[in-house]
Amino acid sequence: MKGLIQQCLQEGHKVMPELEAQKLCAGHSIPCPPTQVAQDKDECVAIAQSIGYPVVMKVLSRQIVHKSDAGGVIVNIRNDEEMAAAFTKMNDAIKKNCPDAKIDGFVIQKMMPSGIEVVVGALRNSQFGPVVMFGMGGIYIEVFKDVEFRLAPLSKEEALRQIEETKIATVLKGVRGQAPCDIDALAELIVNVGKLICDFEEIKEIDFNPVLSYPDGCVAVDARIVIG
Ligand code: ADP
Ligand code: MG
Repeated sequence: MKGLIQQCLQEGHKVMPELEAQKLCAGHSIPCPPTQVAQDKDECVAIAQSIGYPVVMKVLSRQIVHKSDAGGVIVNIRNDEEMAAAFTKMNDAIKKNCPDAKIDGFVIQKMMPSGIEVVVGALRNSQFGPVVMFGMGGIYIEVFKDVEFRLAPLSKEEALRQIEETKIATVLKGVRGQAPCDIDALAELIVNVGKLICDFEEIKEIDFNPVLSYPDGCVAVDARIVIG
């Protein structure tokens, strides 16, 4: 895994490309959806068929950080026709919104069922060293700032307490008759993110936004790992 990070650094990546980031996640038991990268329209369709519809398409570009802002995320693609249409639509949007961005490919990912969106992250604090972050995800993250930090590495019990101290914990326990989410799986994911940043000094920052939380498990659908 260290070799994988070194290779990304040698290729000048500051953020690990999707597939490489997922490999790192897999090595630390962090669940991600089935994902492949395509270069052209035909390959998008072939990969979507092999993964199985519905899929999500995302632009892969070093210059694009917030993919959806650039028109670089299309969800719920249900068949070959929609896949082909999404390819045209996304290319047009990127050309218009980010004319200088170089497109390195297109991420085709299994569309996961909707769940409660949370964020799990990690960073290196100059004073305290590695810390992990957990909180409410989605588009209002900046508005509510419902996040809790802990020093890494941490135990599952600490991670459970960290979750417990956020407001989103109330939602995860199930409101208005909704089934409670698998908080245990989230705590395990936080522990593993803590291990990941502690195991590789080249990792500067981890940002899983969102992690979709379900009554049975959770999955990181956007895995951003900053290296340096
Ligand atoms: P970015 O944060 O760069 O805009 P994301 O990969 O987070 O891009 O995608 C944007 C949104 O699309 C996510 O917040 C999530 O709601 C949805 N999404 C992304 N990937 C999936 C997926 N595999 N299954 C279901 N929903 C997804
Ligand atoms: Mg995201």
